[in-house]
Amino acid sequence: MADLSLTFDNSYARLPERFFSVETPAHASAPSLIAWNTDLANDMNITAPDDRAEIAAYFSGNTPIPGSTPIAQAYCGHQFGHFNPQLGDGRAILLGEVIGKTGARFDLQLKGSGRTKWSRQGDGRAWLGPVLREYLVSEAMHILGIPTTRALAAVATGDTVYRETPLPGAVLTRVASSHLRVGTFQYFAARGDRDGLQQLFDYACARHYPQATGPIDFLKSVIAKQSKLIAHWLSVGFIHGVMNTDNCHIDGITIDYGPCAFLDTYHPQTVYSSIDQYGRYSYDNQAAVIVWNMGQLASALLPLLPDHQDTIDHLTEIVHAMPDQIAQARRQFFGQKLGISDATPADDRLIQDWLDLMQRHQMDFTNSFRALMGDKTGTRLPDTPAFDAWYAAWAARRDADYVAGMALHNPVIIPRNHQIEHVIQSALAGDMSPFYDLLHALQTPYDLTPATRAYIDHPRPDQVVQATFCGT
Ligand code: AMP
Ligand code: MG
Repeated sequence: MADLSLTFDNSYARLPERFFSVETPAHASAPSLIAWNTDLANDMNITAPDDRAEIAAYFSGNTPIPGSTPIAQAYCGHQFGHFNPQLGDGRAILLGEVIGKTGARFDLQLKGSGRTKWSRQGDGRAWLGPVLREYLVSEAMHILGIPTTRALAAVATGDTVYRETPLPGAVLTRVASSHLRVGTFQYFAARGDRDGLQQLFDYACARHYPQATGPIDFLKSVIAKQSKLIAHWLSVGFIHGVMNTDNCHIDGITIDYGPCAFLDTYHPQTVYSSIDQYGRYSYDNQAAVIVWNMGQLASALLPLLPDHQDTIDHLTEIVHAMPDQIAQARRQFFGQKLGISDATPADDRLIQDWLDLMQRHQMDFTNSFRALMGDKTGTRLPDTPAFDAWYAAWAARRDADYVAGMALHNPVIIPRNHQIEHVIQSALAGDMSPFYDLLHALQTPYDLTPATRAYIDHPRPDQVVQATFCGT
């Protein structure tokens, strides 16, 4: 019988002690495996035991994984614009870094495995709902080609977690290129710990930007990745929900799936998070907020640069150039979605007019693009003079083989909020099959098949989820 086999090299745990706290995952009373990601395990060169109970024992935190060094990372951040000097992994434990098949390094982290030094008032636990949501959405994002953390395993703990009501506990095994956040840099900058900041910077460069010539170049590289990431989110109608600086990744990947959701009806000011009263993290505002977050990263890097007005001017210039980069990436993605492979600023009007039409006619974001390529399974196009005029302009501009191009950039299926809600409610009632069915359908997002067809419908009014509560 195969035992668990994987190769660790825990470089973060070799950083100075003040970068983290040493932790032990809490004991789960009756771990049982909900999901195991065989493809990802394979990329990570992990051989799992045949026995699902053994896998559950490892990925609940019950059985220590040989070679792991469990720690919780220190970080801080701006939450909804307010600086919180101490956050840290309050409900996550980093087991270590797994070296995969091609030599790539994967952080392996348990999320929901109990209290740590950073838990404050929290219990360090997760309940089943957010674990299933993160599993589905992060894997969907990955398959859509959007840089993201991933899900290796979901385990039910057999313990009760108390929120407003008693709920079943679960642990998600999250995998990421690292867990370096803007907030990790802020942590050392805010403490005036220049040595720590320098070590973090060197570490981040070695891990993600080996070509970077210094902090300025590093900032530019992070901004380039984040610009593309946010434009990519916008192109699939993704709303992160909590773009705090601690949830903003130095490697430009999507991290910390909480009250996230995909647009159904297109409206640029859509917000799902129940705690986002002012729409700071609404769909459209994500493009502005990421610039604010990069401004915070620039500030945190200041102690590493010459103390001079020129430095500030230079950093300001770089951050101020970001909206243009986002606009460019956005134009590229939306151009491709409209069958225009070489979009230029001259196409911005056409793209914006289409979005305005979608808004005016309260159209479904995902299905309306599909309808333009002739697939009207999910929705019909409007029959108005304004739409006809737009269509004529579009028909004159799009590529000759626009349908083939659009088919590669317009998913049939995205994990819709009401479907995720249905998965969670079914799971709470003891039926996991909706979770497995949706997960299966999400593997082929661009194909209209019986499996994907089941998930393309816009929610009925009674199915619309009004607010998604924070992932805790
Ligand atoms: P988030 O906005 O979900 O990324 O979390 C923000 C901060 O709250 C992080 O420091 C988390 O570790 C912490 N946190 C969230 N939920 C819990 C919990 N249930 N127990 C302890 N800490 C938590
Ligand atoms: Mg977070």
